[in-house]
Amino acid sequence: MTSTTSPTLLDGRALAEKIRLEFAPEVTTMVEAGKRPRLVVVQVGKNDAAQAYIRGQRRGAEKWQLDFHLETLPAEATEAGVRKALRALNADDGVSGILLSLPLPDGLPTRALQHQIHPSKDVEGVHPENLGGLLWARYGLLPCTALASLALIDESGVDLRGKEAVVVGHSEIVGKPAALLMLARNATVTVCHIDTQDVAAHTKRADVIVVAVGKAGLITGDMVKEGAVVIDVGINAIPSDEGPGRMRLVGDVDFDAVSKKAAAITPVPGGVGPVTVAMLMRNTVLAARGIRVEDAPGQLPLFS
Ligand code: NAD
Repeated sequence: MTSTTSPTLLDGRALAEKIRLEFAPEVTTMVEAGKRPRLVVVQVGKNDAAQAYIRGQRRGAEKWQLDFHLETLPAEATEAGVRKALRALNADDGVSGILLSLPLPDGLPTRALQHQIHPSKDVEGVHPENLGGLLWARYGLLPCTALASLALIDESGVDLRGKEAVVVGHSEIVGKPAALLMLARNATVTVCHIDTQDVAAHTKRADVIVVAVGKAGLITGDMVKEGAVVIDVGINAIPSDEGPGRMRLVGDVDFDAVSKKAAAITPVPGGVGPVTVAMLMRNTVLAARGIRVEDAPGQLPLFS
């Protein structure tokens, strides 16, 4: 990959549409057979921060011609109550995929409840069975944002084999699975996190950087090598120039400075976000197919 002053902008909306079109014939066949995939989002209480995500999920499902249902439980729902609702959805053959919207009200155990979702309906790919599949190369339902990051790297044209890949952020939902997915492509992967002594020392030698932290401006121009591919997962609301109280969304990467050095970079918004929604729909179609880890493919076909 050569250095450039005009990087390739990795257009997440265009890639999301490409993914949708890959699956459209299969969705049509399912619909014609009376088996339209159905995604159920379970929300406990009403969390303002989650509303935008849920709107995006609903829009994504409509675009893909999947059924979407928002099941709202009261904010005072007990753990037993949420478990019961999830069990009912697990048992319902008409439900393909289940997503537990986060954050949950205080006092409810997030992981324990997420793990109540049957692995065959776990469209966020967070159940230990699905995450285990990622470790032993049986790729079933995988975490959507990590998948989106890999798809955008593929879109840049870089072949990960033998490349230095650095992930900044080591959450279960993004950083760790993104690292494992790049490892599955035989990149040499380094994972940085809050206790990493010198993040720049790692990112400076990276051919591919995936940043998922949630801190605006964390990755500056001097931290990136000429010609790197940069995937910015972060979403941060910062004050906008448009007037007092107005906010705008940025990623974790100083876009203006880093885009002068990168060969390819994702914008925020319009990069990882739309592809993440597409991967959620992809997972819903895979779930409707009945994919399970034990018979999932040992390759990483993202779009099939
Ligand atoms: P998280 O809060 O669970 O994890 C943050 C990670 O950043 C941790 O691993 C922590 O160790 C690391 N970290 C914190 N400060 C650091 C520092 N100074 N240097 C290096 N590492 C540091 O976050 P998450 O759920 O993985 O989300 C990360 C970001 O990605 C957030 O901004 C979130 O909104 C965004 N996100 C975007 C999408 C999308 O679809 N675009 C999806 C999920 C998350």
